[in-house]
This record gives sequence, C-alpha cells and structure tokens, in this order.
Amino acid sequence: MFIDSHCHLNYLNSAGDALNRARQNGVGGVLCVGVDESGIEEVLALAQAHDDVWASVGTHPQSVEDGIAWIEGKLARPSVVAVGETGLDYTTAGNAEMRRLQLYSFEHQMNLAERYGLPVIIHTRGAESDTLTMLENFPRVQGVLHCFTESWAMAERAMDLGYFISISGIVTFAKAENVRAVAADVPLDRLLIETDAPWLAPVPYRGKENEPAFVSQTAEFLAQLRGLEVGALARATSANFRRLFLSADAGKRNPVSL
Ligand SMILES: [Zn+2]
Repeated sequence: MFIDSHCHLNYLNSAGDALNRARQNGVGGVLCVGVDESGIEEVLALAQAHDDVWASVGTHPQSVEDGIAWIEGKLARPSVVAVGETGLDYTTAGNAEMRRLQLYSFEHQMNLAERYGLPVIIHTRGAESDTLTMLENFPRVQGVLHCFTESWAMAERAMDLGYFISISGIVTFAKAENVRAVAADVPLDRLLIETDAPWLAPVPYRGKENEPAFVSQTAEFLAQLRGLEVGALARATSANFRRLFLSADAGKRNPVSL
C-alpha cells in the first residue's frame, strides 16, 4: 500500500473520481496540502469527507502576498496533520521584497509548527542556505522537504536536522539525473513519496493531469532504482509517513493499515 504524501486534490478535475482510482491502485492514504486561504476550505472539506485523506494548512511561498494571519485559526480543524506548504522559492521571487516576504511567512509558519507540535511541509527552490538556516533556528520542528530537487548536501543537512526527503514523479523524467542521484541515496527510513498532483505527472503520464493513483509509478521507479521490491518501498515510505504525520493524530483517526 502506497501513501501519496503531497498532493492538491482540490485542484483536480474530479477529486472523488481520482480518489477512487487511487484506492483501486493500492493508494491507502493521501495528504492534501493547503497553499492559500482561498483554497483551504475545499482542502479541509475533502479531508473531513474521506477517512483516507488528511490536510495541511499554510501559505505557499509563491502565494505569500495572500498573507498568513488566517492560518492559525484553521490548525485545530479535524484531520489537519501539518503546517504548510511553506518555504522559499528564489527561482520565482523576482526581487528582494518578495524574498523578505517569503522569509517572514516561512518563519511565522515554523513558529506555528513549533507551538502546535505539528510537522512542517517545505517547498524549497534555489534557496538552500536560507532554508537550512531557518530549519536550524527551529530545532524542535520536524518535517519534510517535499518534491525535492536540490543538492545532496542540502538533503544530508536537512536529514541531520531530522527532516524527511520526499521524491515526486520528477525522478522519472529523462533530465532529472540529480534527483535520481539523491533518491538513490536517501536512507529508507527518511524517504517519502508523493505526486504533487495535479502537476508533474510521472512517466508515462507526462502532459496529463497528475493524480494520487500515479504515486505507484514513482514508487515502482524508485524501487527499481534502489534495487528493492516495490512492496518493501511501499511499506517503508508508508511507515515513515505515519511516523511523521500521524503520531500526534493517531487517536483521532482509523489507523492506516500497512
Ligand atoms: Zn505542492
């Protein structure tokens, strides 16, 4: 059984149909990640309606102009298991003011994660040193670097700080040698898998709308890359997911069977 540790179900053409296809394809759980205030009620409603869907609440670095004041009020809602996604994206932050806003938003969400005892979901692009400095400033916070595409040195430092590394369908793309190199070496007890649906559909679905069912493609690719049975990879990544996201929440939900 696979768990899609990061997707945006609320942006799919039909979340209900996609969830059914995911279940038929061995996907036993899905984390639906919030990115801004305007979409959050849809995210929370999906998590409340489905026992195999959890939610996170946060402002994406590319949505920082939407603000952060709304986040805290949603953290106690049912099925919320994380803060984010937050982080830094300097590949799209055009100027110093945008970077400053991203840092402010990221720090606020790290603070919330610490105070509420929740893990954090981090998006990081072209901002290795500022991202790592922020993680170092909040040593009690744990989380994941999602859809990881940065250097091995960054992955290693984040893992030293207790973070997980999540691999998306990018690992199947022809040009993603650097992602494959990292994905091959992340210790199995630090690895998560995700789709980031509706974006980044893995080979052989490139160009189509991505959906949680396709996490199995990424899992099979990763298992082969690492010389593992896909079942072993599924068990390990699902156990990691539970360890990171469900340990505080376990009493409230039916445990995911592994
Ligand atoms: Zn995302």
